[in-house]
Amino acid sequence: MSDVIKLLPDAVANQIAAGEVIQRPASAVKELLENAIDAGADNIQLIVKDAGKPLIQVVDNGMGMTQADAVLCFNRHATSKIEQASDLFSIRTMGFRGEALASIAAIARVELKTRTADQQIGTEVIIESAKLNSQNPCNCPKGTGISVKNLFFNTPARRNFLKSDQVEKRHILHELQRIAIARPDISFQYYQNNQLTHQLNKSNLKQRIANLFGSNYNQRLVPVNENTQIVRISGFTGKPEYAKKARGEQFFYVNKRYIRSPYLNHAVDSAYKELIPDDAHPSFFLFLETAPEQIDVNVHPTKTEIKFQDDKYIYQIIKAAIRRSLGSYNISPSLDFEQETAFDTDRPVKDRPSKPPAIRIDPDYNPFETDRPRKDTASGPPGKTTPGHWEKMYPADVDLPVQEEASDRKQFVISPDWESRAPEENGQRKFFQLHATYILTPVKSGMMIIDQHRAHERILFEHFSRNTASKKNHSQQLLFPEQINLAENEAGILKEIIEVIKGCGFSIKVLDNNNFEIDAIPSGLPESQSLQQVMEGIIENVHANRDEFSQDMYGHVLRTMAKRMAVKRGKALTEEEMSSIANNLFACEMPQYSPTGKIVLQIISHRELSERFK
Ligand code: ADP
Ligand code: MG
Repeated sequence: MSDVIKLLPDAVANQIAAGEVIQRPASAVKELLENAIDAGADNIQLIVKDAGKPLIQVVDNGMGMTQADAVLCFNRHATSKIEQASDLFSIRTMGFRGEALASIAAIARVELKTRTADQQIGTEVIIESAKLNSQNPCNCPKGTGISVKNLFFNTPARRNFLKSDQVEKRHILHELQRIAIARPDISFQYYQNNQLTHQLNKSNLKQRIANLFGSNYNQRLVPVNENTQIVRISGFTGKPEYAKKARGEQFFYVNKRYIRSPYLNHAVDSAYKELIPDDAHPSFFLFLETAPEQIDVNVHPTKTEIKFQDDKYIYQIIKAAIRRSLGSYNISPSLDFEQETAFDTDRPVKDRPSKPPAIRIDPDYNPFETDRPRKDTASGPPGKTTPGHWEKMYPADVDLPVQEEASDRKQFVISPDWESRAPEENGQRKFFQLHATYILTPVKSGMMIIDQHRAHERILFEHFSRNTASKKNHSQQLLFPEQINLAENEAGILKEIIEVIKGCGFSIKVLDNNNFEIDAIPSGLPESQSLQQVMEGIIENVHANRDEFSQDMYGHVLRTMAKRMAVKRGKALTEEEMSSIANNLFACEMPQYSPTGKIVLQIISHRELSERFK
């Protein structure tokens, strides 16, 4: 048999390669925008006809190209960005493969006009199906303009693969958004069919986001900032109450490069666990900065996937950073949360798993003081067991009406010195109950309203979670073991989950089919509680949420215990009980949300109040 292997002509090779890099008009948009950014432009125009097939044009004011480079840039593996293999490990530009222009030129007609700052005359190059049509001097501004016409005209299979114009347009917009978010320092204009639809001026990140997604995004986001030796995280993440059913605005960047990473998304989701419903998704705009040596962007031709050396560690840092931002967004970061900053530790060693940052725990804290104040604690000052001083977390509005008399202001502002203003000393009450449901208390910035049931749920949940995790003071022995009797199917479920129940601190025996005996309960669960009811509640919850249960078994049981035992709405509370709830609440990691993600407290600001009394 004769030799059969032949080298493919360049044009064919380029067409094949083009399929990998340019899958749809939006891929060409991405590559052209990235080239403009790499060229140092600070103003970029994107001009698109229909959904990009007839025309995609990108005009930048970057460094431009010389006459020779204007032709050379269309060759495969022609790049100015790396010279040797080792450069691959320190890439700071968006592009580096030298494939984009060659690919685009293989499947379209491309017209390039470019001029560098030190040339008087620019160069125009026209190339079609990878063949040079013409190269001429031309007049043009400094920078580069590239028009891509008739995209996919010679690749009918690819063309037929495209979705409706509407879908393709959306892809283009997404590419623009991804790039525009990463570079608020660059201004963009986006023209669709000769109409300017997006005018993005230079701004900061928050303004850029608001420009793209609406000005109401300003209130929906909280800043995220975390610095460790390995990675720096910055950006914004959405408040839980604005999470959406559809995965919407989720943007991850590594060294300003947009990436897709289910793994890192999972890290974010895990930070929102218990704060939003399982089928809701938060918005986020997160930037990771790390040394280029730490990552490998070479794993995917379109460069949206990435590999980290320390991905487990990065997962934990992302999760912790978001938790912290959410936990402190309307709280000054100087109090309980400052303890958590101490995780800029050494690099994780290979076989030592990275630990999430520690949460401060008060071992003496007993969440049941509220419900049943015991004689020995009742005499002490309220809130003795907690850090106290949480009012400082809600500092006064900066523009408190200054002309007000100090004595008038007293009713709005409470002294930061908590102990000195204990009710019995100056006769002023600090806690009021409304409709046996809400706790009202003045804070410097106005009035705080706490939902008593949800607050207590949060307190109990964190208490149980800590004990379960640490196994410390885990169970308390019952003086008299209690028997419970369950219906057939309930008993079945209990037997299935009995190990989880034990893990939460119960000691439980199966007596016979439907009868069980409990002789120890999680510490903190009051003995007077009806164990029959607690068990039934847990079983009911497992039954109703089978799928979710298997993902987070302990969480489910602990949440149910907290829910069952938290003070109900409608229960009158003494001032001391209210004070204890408030203090214990602010010793929690996540005081603003109940374990199922409901809002626990609201603040009516001083400004809002004075508006009402205008
Ligand atoms: P890569 O970006 O991976 O280097 P491309 O095919 O996208 O490969 O571009 C090839 C080369 O063409 C770039 O390395 C750059 O030198 C030059 N180039 C492309 N677009 C521009 C532009 N808008 N301004 C200046 N130079 C450009
Ligand atoms: Mg490029």
